[in-house]
Amino acid sequence: MWHPLQAEFPQQQPLAGFLRGPSEIHTGEAVGIVTCGSSRIRPVKDSANGWLETTFYDPNKHAKLVVMGRKDGMPLLLRLAKPGQAKAEDWPNLRSWLLESDPESFDLLATAASLANWQEQHRYCGRCGCKTQPRNDEYAHQCPRCHLRQYPRVSPCIITLVWREDALLLARSPRFAPGVYSTLAGFIEAGESAEQALHREVEEEVSVKIGNFKYLGSQSWPFPNSLMLGYWAEYQGGDIAFDGIEIEDAQWYPFDQLPELPAKASISRYLIDSFLRWKGVNS
Ligand SMILES: [Zn+2]
Repeated sequence: MWHPLQAEFPQQQPLAGFLRGPSEIHTGEAVGIVTCGSSRIRPVKDSANGWLETTFYDPNKHAKLVVMGRKDGMPLLLRLAKPGQAKAEDWPNLRSWLLESDPESFDLLATAASLANWQEQHRYCGRCGCKTQPRNDEYAHQCPRCHLRQYPRVSPCIITLVWREDALLLARSPRFAPGVYSTLAGFIEAGESAEQALHREVEEEVSVKIGNFKYLGSQSWPFPNSLMLGYWAEYQGGDIAFDGIEIEDAQWYPFDQLPELPAKASISRYLIDSFLRWKGVNS
């Protein structure tokens, strides 16, 4: 019998053949380069996946690129978009590209986008203001003056499907595509546990009480640097109420009358689909 905690969501599996972090690259070695800003990616014609440029390593041209890691032995490098360049209209939006990618491309693009964001926004030491330098043994920048090390920032968020015996609580934000309803999500605050964030966010967004949490899995969402921790939460009481700003609509939907849902590759959709499957409903 299928169980909801079986690891079938792609991001619960290792990213096969990928070693994260810097490594030494030899002149003339075949490398793959992805060029992106924090929210857009440069398309590469004639590449297998649409975004990876392949070439041979030339220290004169490539020494300043960020080394993401090695995929099946080949170094993957990140070239940051120049200021203004990533706004070009022919550069696809990384969010929609991610959601239409296969799981392997999703993970590699999420890595590229997270690192691009970090490189753009953490160029100076937060303690003394000196320009930082990349380390060559780990994803980190170090201050040459005070030696403070900074690591790529990851911000944990909770995302939860609220359910009751006969319905799912789904909501929409004005940022969503027209007609799409999804699960509830929010950042975990400093000093807060994930479970406390679940109680607080759901109460703030839709005014209902929840409990009986079940953790289902996680997914990187690099806009700018979220790590989504996915849960089911059982409804415990209260009537739905929302502010009309962050949440523009929220309703209980019977299992057989669901609205348009988020993309299949998103953890929010996994929370919904796995729940319906657990309940024996065909989605
Ligand atoms: Zn410093």
